[in-house]
Amino acid sequence: MGRLIADDMLFSIDCIRSLMHEVSVISDLVSAVLKELEKYNSVKVEEVTLVIGEMTNLGEEQMEFAYEIVTKDTELEGSKLVIEYEKIIVKCLECDYKGGIRMLKNDYGEHDIPVIACPKCNGRVKIIAGQACMVKNFKILETDECSS
Ligand SMILES: [Zn+2]
Repeated sequence: MGRLIADDMLFSIDCIRSLMHEVSVISDLVSAVLKELEKYNSVKVEEVTLVIGEMTNLGEEQMEFAYEIVTKDTELEGSKLVIEYEKIIVKCLECDYKGGIRMLKNDYGEHDIPVIACPKCNGRVKIIAGQACMVKNFKILETDECSS
């Protein structure tokens, strides 16, 4: 059975302001996992779960592709990548609205475009969720469970 690591610790990077490409986002997250792995007698990583906000506009397919490239010849090679999407939640600064926002259909890309305004009064909003870009946890197989 694999052991689940990092339930209560999160690696997080700001991938909105820097507008990074999927490959650089994935390579940052993968190197954080590799660094964390040094603490364990692991032989193999089975699974890595990422939480990705809808605001980041990172494509699932592109990330899976990037993951395969970035993890090659590392302890993460062959592990499964699980991506959980975090919905965009805003809080209106004008009225009391708190919740999701309107999405504009995007005919030219794979993602719909979020409308960063209050769906009720069109006022300015503060984004409170949907910008995540982090490793939620990862699962490893350890070589020697008894070693100290
Ligand atoms: Zn409002």
